[in-house]
Amino acid sequence: MLESLRLSAQTSSPVQNYINYLHDKYINLKEGNVADYIPELAKVYPDWFGICLASVDGKIYEVGDTNQSFTIQSISKAFAYGIALEDNGLDKVIDKVSVEPSGDAFNSISLEEGSGRPFNPMINAGAIAVVNLIQGVTPEQKFNRILERFSQYAGRALSLDRNVYESESKTGDRNRAIAWMLKNFNIIEAHQDPMNAIDAYFRQCSIAVNCRDLALMGATLANSGTNPLTGQVCLEPKYVTNVLSVMGTSGMYNYAGEWVFRVGLPAKSGVGGGIVAVLPGRLAISVFSPRLDKLGNSVRGIAVCSDLSANFDLHLFNAPTSTSPIRLSHNASQVSSSRLRSPIEVDFLSKQGQRIRLYELQGNLTFSTTEICVREIVEGVKGIDFLIIDFKRVLGIDPAACWLLANLFENLTESDSFEVVLTHLDSVRPFEDYIQEKCSDRLSQKVKLFIENDFAIEWCETQLISRELSPLHLLEEFCPLQEQQLCVGLSEEEIRCLHSFLELRSYSADDVICHKGEKADEVFFLLKGEVMVVISLQDGKQKRLATITPGMAFGEIPLVGIFERTADIIVPRHSECYVLSKVQFERLSVEQPALKGKILTNLCRILFERLRKANKEIEFLCH
Ligand code: GLN
Repeated sequence: MLESLRLSAQTSSPVQNYINYLHDKYINLKEGNVADYIPELAKVYPDWFGICLASVDGKIYEVGDTNQSFTIQSISKAFAYGIALEDNGLDKVIDKVSVEPSGDAFNSISLEEGSGRPFNPMINAGAIAVVNLIQGVTPEQKFNRILERFSQYAGRALSLDRNVYESESKTGDRNRAIAWMLKNFNIIEAHQDPMNAIDAYFRQCSIAVNCRDLALMGATLANSGTNPLTGQVCLEPKYVTNVLSVMGTSGMYNYAGEWVFRVGLPAKSGVGGGIVAVLPGRLAISVFSPRLDKLGNSVRGIAVCSDLSANFDLHLFNAPTSTSPIRLSHNASQVSSSRLRSPIEVDFLSKQGQRIRLYELQGNLTFSTTEICVREIVEGVKGIDFLIIDFKRVLGIDPAACWLLANLFENLTESDSFEVVLTHLDSVRPFEDYIQEKCSDRLSQKVKLFIENDFAIEWCETQLISRELSPLHLLEEFCPLQEQQLCVGLSEEEIRCLHSFLELRSYSADDVICHKGEKADEVFFLLKGEVMVVISLQDGKQKRLATITPGMAFGEIPLVGIFERTADIIVPRHSECYVLSKVQFERLSVEQPALKGKILTNLCRILFERLRKANKEIEFLCH
């Protein structure tokens, strides 16, 4: 249906253009009549027409008479229900007012058989019982609380339309009858005066709002109870679902069933001509147009909401299919850390690296998406000892997802040798809190946290090596010249000769061996300790490109030409190197051409191996 729409682009916003289009489309729809059972309402200009859309992040689209004030009427019932829930708690409110759709008109004189409870808070009987539950004894006390709260929802001070209130009170005997009936069934209790509740109810219905106010009130519900513009909490989040539920089942009088069927959004309408519909987590739509159909709903309001829902697929039962939040998964033999290790370790990790598996997660973690993820992990966990989960691209996590992941980790770490390692946990603070507050001490102590995957993989590799290779191997911290990678194939004589060209240098922790941009005129053979090659990123953070371990050379570029350094080389702990200066290398080239040839051949091999590793990793990372 959408493709066939060719909207004249009046603004650059497609959403604004669409509501403009709906306004044009329905401006000539003049079916229905304004409510006249309250004389003051009959005076309203019937052709007012405003449409407003407010998003949970505070964007407002509006067209038509969105500043025109009108009385909120029955729409107030949904918001008053929220206040009663906060004042009394759910159990006490349910005790007095049920939540069953009645299928009756809003003003029907009917109560549940036996209990005498009104069927739901959206019909008059329920709404009057709800006002009775709101804090305060006198009508003024109750009304002040309602007005203050409604003003917070709207983000501005609202006021009473006194004429409508008086007119409503004068003609409100049917509602008075309902109130007395509630007293008869002890829904309004013996010590309470039903006329206090009824007066507060008439006032509540006569609060003047405009279409924009209604959209913001709805958007506040869509935004878990917090006004998107002012940031004010207007309803405790735990009650928002309750309010939306009764709007969903009973908000549109005896059109509620068809409304859910066609539009599929919790909504509330009022005889003043307003309708507000809520798409939880996203937005609210409000429409003001006073001509009502036989059931008391705004004719244009229903038309606009139906079109919006159909064209933009807003029906809540039309939820998108959940997809796996696993963006990428690989093991450490496919992508290893940037710690450049000795050939024995490299060989070991190429065979055993699959015991370390990393999962990169993305998107919103809810029950639906996380169930897919934990299932894949459970099915793939055989043969894994180290599980790394990367949360960098996770946008949000809800309590159900926290529970699923925490429960998975609790189970996996029952085996002492199983390690769970989490990275970028700063993207999912609620999960960090969950682990600290809700998980066993064993798990919260056992889980390892790293800021980057590279360091997490390195830690797992080192653990695996120290578990499986001789622990002595890790202690072999010193690599003499004859065992250096650049010296493979050199005779003892050639080693002695090379030695005479070298200078021994030691560095302490935090020394910087060279800076990016400096002229490269020295080659280093690392004998002891470790050095890190790092670059600074645009955000000021540093990114490790490699950690060099004993036996490897670094800064080799002067062996092949005159270049600048492309990264910083820093020293995390005490280290020792042999240094071959460019000048000495040139001397060696003249005096020992065969030795130079062997060193360059070794360099080619090393660079080729690094290139092969990089190519292999790109293959896995570019899925
Ligand atoms: N004041 C109105 C009444 O109780 C509210 C009704 C409505 O909007 N449906 O009659």
